Formats: sequence, C-alpha cells, structure tokens
Amino acid sequence: MTGVGGNARPRVAVVGGGLAGLTAALVAADAGADVVLLETRPRLGGATASFDRKGLWVDTGQHVFMRCCTAYRGFLRRLGVEHQTTLQPRLDVEVLLGDRPGQRARLRRTKTRLPAPLHLAPALLGYKALPVGQRAAAALAAFQLGRLDQRSPKVDGASFGDWLARHHQGAVATEALWELLTIATLNAPAAEASLGLAAKVVRTGLLERADAADIGWADVPLQQLHGEAAAKALADLGADVRTSVKVREITRTDAGYELAITSGGTGRGASAVVTVDAVVLAVPPPAAAALLPAGAHPDPASLEGLGASPIVNVHMIFDRRVMDQPFLAATSSPVQWIFDRTVASGLAGAGVAPPGSQYLALSQSAAAPWVDRPAGELGAEFVAEVRRILPAARAAELVEVFVTRERTATFRQAPGSLALRAAAKTGLPGFALAGAWTDTGWPATMEGAVRSGLAAARETLASVGVHVGEPQPAPDDVTWPRPAIAPAGTGAVAGGLSAPAQGRPADSGKASGVPAASLGAPAQPAVPAAPPAARAEPAAETVPAASPISPNTTGSSPA
Ligand SMILES: Cc1cc2nc3c(=O)[nH]c(=O)nc-3n(C[C@H](O)[C@H](O)[C@H](O)COP(=O)(O)OP(=O)(O)OC[C@H]3O[C@@H](n4cnc5c(N)ncnc54)[C@H](O)[C@@H]3O)c2cc1C
Repeated sequence: MTGVGGNARPRVAVVGGGLAGLTAALVAADAGADVVLLETRPRLGGATASFDRKGLWVDTGQHVFMRCCTAYRGFLRRLGVEHQTTLQPRLDVEVLLGDRPGQRARLRRTKTRLPAPLHLAPALLGYKALPVGQRAAAALAAFQLGRLDQRSPKVDGASFGDWLARHHQGAVATEALWELLTIATLNAPAAEASLGLAAKVVRTGLLERADAADIGWADVPLQQLHGEAAAKALADLGADVRTSVKVREITRTDAGYELAITSGGTGRGASAVVTVDAVVLAVPPPAAAALLPAGAHPDPASLEGLGASPIVNVHMIFDRRVMDQPFLAATSSPVQWIFDRTVASGLAGAGVAPPGSQYLALSQSAAAPWVDRPAGELGAEFVAEVRRILPAARAAELVEVFVTRERTATFRQAPGSLALRAAAKTGLPGFALAGAWTDTGWPATMEGAVRSGLAAARETLASVGVHVGEPQPAPDDVTWPRPAIAPAGTGAVAGGLSAPAQGRPADSGKASGVPAASLGAPAQPAVPAAPPAARAEPAAETVPAASPISPNTTGSSPA
C-alpha cells in the first residue's frame, strides 16, 4: 500500500475530533495509515466536553452508557481508560415519585437469572411508579415494540407516542416508564420521537440480553476520559493531530483529496492545504452539508433536515450530601435525571465549597421548554423542585447553582429521520461519512458515534488497500476491530480485544477493565488526580446571587 506522493503509507484525513472522528482516526492509525486529524476546537472529544470552572471540572452534559454499548466500551478499552468508568453490576434505577414526594420506585434487574426477555417481567411487575393494573400491559407493549422493524419506513415514520396510545399505554405509563427510558436516549418526548428508534432502544437496551440495560458512567471528567486519552493514543501511533484548525473546503483531485484549512479554528487564521488519499468526514450535519465534495451525496442540503434538539444541565452544589445514589430518576416532575458529580468533578479539591459538600447535575433532555430561559429562572425552578422531591435537600444550604446548555446536542430523532441519515459509504471512493447522526441504526449516542467511526474507517481504508477486520467480541461482548492485514513495517498496533478481554468478569460492579499497561497505555487513577490539561471553550452561566432561589444561594458574576 502506498500513499500520496509515493509515501509508504496511505494518508487519511479525519475531519472532526468527536467520538466518531477519534474512533476512525484510531482504527486507521492502528491499521498503519498515516493519519491527520483536523478539529476546529482547541481540544478533542466533540460533544463530550469538560471545562474548568474555578477548579471544578464540569462536563457540559452528563453522559451515561449501557452495557449493550459494546463498541463504545471497546473504544474505552482501546484507550485504556475503562477503569475510569463504573458499570452497574445489575440495572438499578431509583425513581423519585413527584406525585408522592419522599417516596421512591425502583426499576431493577432481579438477582434471579432469567433469560431475556423474561428477565424484564419481575422488573416491570415490581415497578411501583406504575399502577399495578398497568404493569403487565407495559410488559406486553415492550415485547410488541421489540418485534417492530425499525428500518421499515412506516415504522420509522410513525410517532412513538401515537403507537403507545394505540397500545393502551396511557399518560401515566408514558411518563413514568416509557419516557423515563426514551427521553434520555432519543432526546425527544414520545410524541415527537421516531417509533423505529424507540423500538431499537427497547429491543437492544431491554429485550435482547438480560444485562443490556446496566448503566455506566465516567468517574472522571469526559475530557480526560475521551479527548485526552485519545490524543495520547494517537500521538503514540504517530498520528498528526491538529486542533484549532477549521476545514473550509474539500476537493477531489486525480490522486485523492485536498483539504483547505485555516488555523485558529475560526476560519480567519493562516491558510494551508492538506493532501491525502482518503477522508473521513466526522462533523455534524450542517458542517457536513457544507463540506461534502461534488458527487459524495445526492442532496447535501437534505442533511440539514435532521435539525437539532437541545439538552440543558442545571448544576447545583449543596453544603452536605443530599443523595446517596450515584444517580436518581424522577417522574411527575420536570426533573428527569439527577447525577452525583462530586467525585468526577474533583469538588473536594476545588476549594469552591465546604468539606462534605455535594455537587449534583440535573440532566434535562428534550430541553426545548428550558433552553431559552434565563439561568436565574431555571436555577430557581429546579432547586425548588429538587427540594420538593428530594426531602434531604430541604435542610441543605445551596452553595452554588449554574446552567449549561447544548443547543445542538443531537439531531432531532423524529419520525422520518431515518431517510435523512446518510450511510458511511458515499458516492466517492475513499470518502466516508461518520457521526452519531449517520445511519448506524442507533440513536444519537456515544455508541452510535463510535459505530459510525468504525464503519467509516473500514470504508475509507478498504479504498486504499487496508482491510479492517470485523469487530472482535471479547467474552464480555466488548468489541473492537483487529486489522485483518497487519501492515508490514508500519509499527501499527493490532486493535483486537483478545488480550483485554481477560481482564474483567462480565458482572463485576466496577468497570475496572484490564490493567492499562496491557494495552500499552499508562495506568491512570480512577478519580481525577490531575485535571485535564486542556481548558475547553464552553462556559457555565452562574445564577446571580439576587435570583430568587433560596436565602442560601451564593453566586458570582456570570462566567
Ligand atoms: C449535553 C449532552 C448530553 C449527552 N448525553 C449522552 C448520554 O448520556 N449518552 C450518550 O450515549 N450520548 C449522549 N450525548 C450524545 C453524544 O455526546 C453524541 O452523540 C456524540 O458524542 C457525538 O459524537 P460525534 O463525533 O458524532 O459528533 P461531535 O461530538 O459533534 O463531533 C464533531 C466534531 O467536528 C468538529 N467540526 C465541526 N466542523 C468542523 C470543521 N469544519 N473542521 C474541523 N472540525 C470540525 C466539531 O468541533 C466537533 O468536535 C449527549 C450529548 C450532549 C451534547
């Protein structure tokens, strides 16, 4: 295999340093390609970002994954950071009942080992948020959902909410069960969500395997878990990683592709041209539409039709512990999910709150009702609501509250969106698309992003003579590809997961994974001993001291 200008290795450009681009870049570099990664922002990680707020590490949005996210878990394992996450040994979600403040329901996988999908029955039959008479009907609806063909245009074109109504799932079941599962995964209320994608969530997340829905989360800032670990892995492979570089135009040439770039990330810095054999374009739909060279996609403007849906996080620090669980869900309340961020943010060492304080982040998906409201109003409303549904918070003093908003968190996973999601393969050889919005079959998630990066890498690399093997499942189902042809003399690392697979029994509580050293990566602590090096650009909006939250509120001038 030879690359542009007679180089020994094919040169591959990856545009976009989110999870999709990072995956494609890693796989390509592992397979021996000469990779150049171009990212507009000053740091890698894309939508999974963190920033330093007076010593506190804040994720712009709480992220969780499930055990069924086998490719994302493969990405973590490849980076040697799996031990910086926690994966529940068994699905266990405590749900605050907003209509019965102080009371909770529990959605959990029982210890009794039942084969899927029978494992679901005890979990649903014991779920107190649903009236007893509705629990069996909900279980039946889940099985019916799981049988739908998500790729049928009729199924994808239908509204999940309409389907629920037709299957005797009333307002209570919709809110207390179905939207608990799907608002966070589809970033849309049931009425506005694609039935096809909802069916995918229920089938893969609940029905196919008993352990599929076990929930996982990062114990360190996302920036450290993804962006910094990937930067190191790519540097170790000799990849050319360029941040604060905007790709302005991509042109097909006789030999491959030319990318017009400007430094500074804004498009106004110094200009240059990067010449490559193949390209993975891993940017959000509007940027992809603008950059697609002629012949790559029949109708680039149609990608804009995917639209965007926001997520808002309301962050609050209390002067004492007010919840003992790593996270809680809520029903009959505007609050959706509450996460304990105390350890991951490094609160204890940040010096912004008294010892023993607790940092909670409320993750509000399908956030159209909140995204344009002032931070002070959101803070007041959500602090009052947390105190209403979580009695332990009533006596606690609020140290600080602030808000982060991601207006284009995901594409709108609406009925009919399937037809707009592009395949990895385009009309041009050596030019592939990636991104959680592409046609992965998955919702817009970290898993979808990683899968899209794998598909795009496979596509572009095949065009330059490098064949990436199919993902290799480890015994605990985590997958990552091993290059089918180990490129000679490239120093490439085989990306297969056979060695790591021995590291962790499928059901251990802590996702300790394999000792990082076995992957050639340095072992890292489970808590953020050293915060991420790069300071990212997002900022939080502090709720001013004068806002009517509580007499205990403190604030600083807006960040
Ligand atoms: C607040 C929030 C909460 C979320 N919660 C979850 C969750 O709990 N679980 C889950 O699985 N998923 C969650 N998601 C979704 C998940 O983060 C995304 O689906 C995934 O990270 C998208 O990755 P990506 O690589 O496809 O795109 P992105 O992360 O958007 O990456 C695209 C990159 O391309 C860069 N770029 C754009 N234009 C150019 C250009 N011209 N030149 C160079 N670079 C360019 C961008 O700067 C960006 O870094 C959440 C998202 C948000 C925002």
